[in-house]
Amino acid sequence: MLPAGLLSTAYIAASVLFILSLGGLSRQETARRGNLYGIIGMVIAVLATAGYATGAFEGVAGIELSGAGMGVLAGAVLPGALIGAMLAARVAMTSMPELVAVLHSFVGLAAVLVGISSYMDPGLPVPAGEETIHEIEIFIDIFIGAITFTGSIIAFLKLRGSMSGKPLLLPGRHLLNLAMVVGCIYLGWAYTGQANHGGLTELLIMTGIAGVIGMHMVMAIGGADMPVVVSMLNSYSGWAAAAAGFMLKNDALIVTGALVGSSGAILSYIMCKAMNRSFFSVILGGFGSDGGAPAPSGGAAQPQGEVQEFSVDDTVEMLREAKSVVIVPGYGMAVAQAQHSLAQVIKELQKKKIEVRFAIHPVAGRLPGHMNVLLAEANVSYDIVLEMDEINEDFPETDAVLVIGANDIVNPSALDDPSSPIAGMPVLEVWNAKTVVVMKRGMSSGYAGIQNPLFFKENTRMLFGDAKTNVDNILGALR
Ligand code: NDP
Repeated sequence: MLPAGLLSTAYIAASVLFILSLGGLSRQETARRGNLYGIIGMVIAVLATAGYATGAFEGVAGIELSGAGMGVLAGAVLPGALIGAMLAARVAMTSMPELVAVLHSFVGLAAVLVGISSYMDPGLPVPAGEETIHEIEIFIDIFIGAITFTGSIIAFLKLRGSMSGKPLLLPGRHLLNLAMVVGCIYLGWAYTGQANHGGLTELLIMTGIAGVIGMHMVMAIGGADMPVVVSMLNSYSGWAAAAAGFMLKNDALIVTGALVGSSGAILSYIMCKAMNRSFFSVILGGFGSDGGAPAPSGGAAQPQGEVQEFSVDDTVEMLREAKSVVIVPGYGMAVAQAQHSLAQVIKELQKKKIEVRFAIHPVAGRLPGHMNVLLAEANVSYDIVLEMDEINEDFPETDAVLVIGANDIVNPSALDDPSSPIAGMPVLEVWNAKTVVVMKRGMSSGYAGIQNPLFFKENTRMLFGDAKTNVDNILGALR
């Protein structure tokens, strides 16, 4: 038997480690350490909860699982951990957002299942007088969980390109959402206070309606706003976990859920600011009209004139003559996995005393921080990796810009075409530099599915082909 105080100590230690983890993850230099804190915190939390469930703590009324119960616990946790580790190790960086969306859906589903089972059998006796509170906790847990579950599945399908990114705008959709929420509140009222799980039918109907709300909400959000949806669902999954924590009287779950919920909400706010959207306009949906998954070929691109092509040799000559170079990576760099060769190109340029810096747009790639992760993986020094706000004013003094597999984040129509789906989104103003070389395979549009007038500007040159092949060739020529 373990001393009772150890359980609280373990939960507090895990919570502190999660806070340290979030602090570490906020900066590239400390991100690895932050990740490690998170892993240790989670191992402590899982072990402590397993100890609690098996009644290992002296004087703590755990669930005290039977031998068979413990077998079920081990049978669920071990293969789950193994499958999770295998999937995470094998997933390509470009598929990360999909994986994150699927993981959010699991949190939502778990909240729903735990909520229903807790209603059927609370496990621990609910103290007299607290029955209604317990029922409300279950209700909120299932409501948020069901929205998170179905919303995340739709986000997964949209991010994967299995479903159109076009927003589904049903007539009177706000009224429909309101009616569904009111219906859920009514069912909540009808379900509370019934003896012998008599409110199960109401609870299950509410689960179904909440699931439809989740689906409808994410379906109404346009492709261009998908970055915010991912962080928003992250936040919801946190709140679902926190509600489950109240329901199960598990302090670690409450703290962890609140941390995930609030950090996801802060991230959504940051992403909204980066895209110049209000949070409510994203939630209410409809923005980013024709956005969606990467256009397969050509996308919505309509030619807007002639483009001027560059060869690898032309690009190398331009780089050799430049004093300052800015590199703008985007989703295509992730697809091509060009970051390692690019890191070598930078070393070659630095040897020639050419100033090289990276310009990172907050929504570049398909995941917040996507480009930073790739560049860190290639050991690019953090001090030459600058955020959009730090570098946007330097483009007029820049000799050469290399846009590698980026499109929407360098689209001038965000600034000068009010009818554009990305109108108002701050972008990297690369066209103010002396020469811009855009490296991509063809004239396909980016994620938002719109044409990019940058490609037709007088100082823009197109270097067509796979980003990795072209970067390798540039490297060869520079050496
Ligand atoms: P984009 O999706 O706008 O453009 C990527 C470009 O890369 C494409 O036009 C494509 O053109 C090119 N490309 C693809 N594969 C290769 C390759 N192998 N070699 C060279 N080029 C390649 O990416 P950005 O990073 O500019 O913008 C991100 C977009 O994703 C924004 O619209 C953002 O809102 C959205 N988004 C961002 C999320 C986030 O959290 N960061 C999440 C969800 C969406 P071609 O096919 O011609 O080669």
